[in-house]
Amino acid sequence: MDAAEFPVIRKLGRHAPAISPNMGSYTQERDRFAWEPARTALRTGSRSGVNIAGVALDRHVAAGLGDHLAVRYIDRDWVRTDFTYDSLLRAANRCANALRGIGLTTGERVFSLLGRGPALHIAALGALKAGMIFCPLFSAFGPEPVRTRLELGEAAVLITSDVLYVRKVALIRAELPKLRHILIVRGPGASVPADTHDFGAMLAGASEEFATVAMQDDDIALLHFTSGTTGKPKGVLHAHGAVVAHYLTARLALDLQAEDRYWCTADPGWVTGMAYGVIAPLTCGVSSLVDQEEFDPERWYRVLAEENITVWYTAPTAIRMLMKAGAELARARSYPGLRFLGSVGEPLNPEAVIWGLEVFGQPFHDNWWQTETGAIMVANFASVDIKPGSMGLPFPGIDAAIVRRTADGAAEVILEPSTVGELALKRGWPSMFRGYLNNEAKYRECFAGEWYFSGDLAKRDAEGYFWFVGRGDDVIKSAGHLISPFEVESTLLSHPAVAQAGAIGVPDPVSGASVKAFVELRPGFEPSRQLRQELLAHARRRLGAAVAPREVAFLETLPRTRSGKIMRRVLRARELGLPEGDLSTLEGGA
Ligand code: ATP
Ligand code: MG
Repeated sequence: MDAAEFPVIRKLGRHAPAISPNMGSYTQERDRFAWEPARTALRTGSRSGVNIAGVALDRHVAAGLGDHLAVRYIDRDWVRTDFTYDSLLRAANRCANALRGIGLTTGERVFSLLGRGPALHIAALGALKAGMIFCPLFSAFGPEPVRTRLELGEAAVLITSDVLYVRKVALIRAELPKLRHILIVRGPGASVPADTHDFGAMLAGASEEFATVAMQDDDIALLHFTSGTTGKPKGVLHAHGAVVAHYLTARLALDLQAEDRYWCTADPGWVTGMAYGVIAPLTCGVSSLVDQEEFDPERWYRVLAEENITVWYTAPTAIRMLMKAGAELARARSYPGLRFLGSVGEPLNPEAVIWGLEVFGQPFHDNWWQTETGAIMVANFASVDIKPGSMGLPFPGIDAAIVRRTADGAAEVILEPSTVGELALKRGWPSMFRGYLNNEAKYRECFAGEWYFSGDLAKRDAEGYFWFVGRGDDVIKSAGHLISPFEVESTLLSHPAVAQAGAIGVPDPVSGASVKAFVELRPGFEPSRQLRQELLAHARRRLGAAVAPREVAFLETLPRTRSGKIMRRVLRARELGLPEGDLSTLEGGA
């Protein structure tokens, strides 16, 4: 990345945080940071135990925050449904009792296949309260991806809606002998299918008193399937102790403060939507907004403005789609309360960071983490200068390094700045995953000595900022160079015609691999030979001939995961005529 092209966004003067951030000086915070005080403070009920849902709900109600708005849902017709901390706690208690009532015990797996709505929060928090393991599935999955996940995860219960049941679950039910109960969230006028339970009626009939089960830090709480960007999705297990990381990262990396109105746009079917859409904001006692509709630029601006959102956590693809829809649409409303913008899930190109400044008066703060890390690990913080295009600095309490794997599999830390290597984290943070479902060997391969290997390649500059290079599988090796797909994509995105870009390596007899880029154009631009030449020249000028793409192809839309990540493996497979592999998470797929 050409840093000179994108000046550092200084957090003093014009771009200073609007209110004093939870974290003042990064260096001081790092020096004095410890997980332990929060771990002790968050314990609920029995002093020896912890429970994510207890931290999210009981703790606040006990502290007198019961009347504070916990979650507001907005449906298609903009009808609002509000839950206070107290009403959500009671509903979750009813759910915990209802699950117990059908014979479920601690450690059993409760799955949901639900859209974003109250039932999803209630199911998650109720199951966690009762010490059961919760696994949210994305509601747009087709029957087959639902079946495989229920089977792999040995689901005992599935909570779904009448509509999703008919469309997806009825077809596969006979193949799931371990699935003992199906609970139906019934829409108005709908009936309950045979051999299922009416979830609403169960809640209504259950007691609203429940003693949250005290769990140990290592007890499993959540099962999340990864996005499937690089291959078959993996089941990742997380423990109740992770809540310490949810809480502290939300406070320090997203700067959540008591009076915030917070919007995380991710669906709880993905780890971001669960960790930072459901759990983290509740642990901080803030008010969250859930939009039940799908992405639509005009609607999103309306949510930001009318709900007076203060902290907004979203993803690069969405930001680029907003950019594609044009700044005028954004400027049609004003967002006086908006004070912190965060982004995660994919590399954020510098233009997108700066676009935030232009349109909202706030830059986007990129941060990096994975399903496996359970919480934000590298971040741009409210009080810290941003280098556009960088993922920022390690979270205080996290030791991140650039490493190379030695021949015997150990991690060797690379101290030389700006050298590409694998991003590794020193093991032991509270939200570190506790296993891959049914794959102990793969889990063990992720660690060597004290290090966890992320599988992502990155660089660290002389000031300690981390720069994403690419996923291990996506990096292109050409004539001895390591080419970063992100760098190529960012360069293309800096051209006014380009809305989204994906770069892959294609075999080349001379260099081993050359770069081929796929682009989605902005409105007002049409594919043409001339535009292709212009994009190639633009990339060559900025990247040099060795790194620039040899070919550019125009696509209507790039293949993306349902969580919005560009699937370079699908671009590669299509380009090379190879099998496309697991497509369960492909947007628009089965
Ligand atoms: P799979 O592991 O199944 O291929 P996935 O890795 O996309 O899917 P997630 O755990 O949802 O599944 O995503 C984590 C990955 O997303 C990271 O390893 C990284 O490659 C990418 N990522 C997340 N945040 C960022 C970021 N800020 N910058 C660059 N890449 C990011
Ligand atoms: Mg991954």
